Amino acid sequence: MAADYDEVRSDVKESQDRSLEALQSANAPDARSVVKELDEADALDEGLTPGGEILSEELIVQVIPEAADEFTCYSCFLVRHRSQLVRENNGHSYCIECEG
Ligand SMILES: [Zn+2]
Repeated sequence: MAADYDEVRSDVKESQDRSLEALQSANAPDARSVVKELDEADALDEGLTPGGEILSEELIVQVIPEAADEFTCYSCFLVRHRSQLVRENNGHSYCIECEG
């Protein structure tokens, strides 16, 4: 009887080990770290562009560099100095390279 008893106990211990492994793999890296990364990404987005998307950030970057004496060519979309402006049409500016 004693031998049977030990056998049962070792089975129980083994199944405890297995369920512990299952728990560890269920908690483990992927699901949790993905959620954590998403949370951090949300926090970053809020800091950089409140309520905005990455696309709007790119649009702002393209518009801001245009200074008072510069224009953005509507054909090649490069920021040019006013001296390179050779044509304006319907509020759109065209540079000397595109028109020349
Ligand atoms: Zn141009």
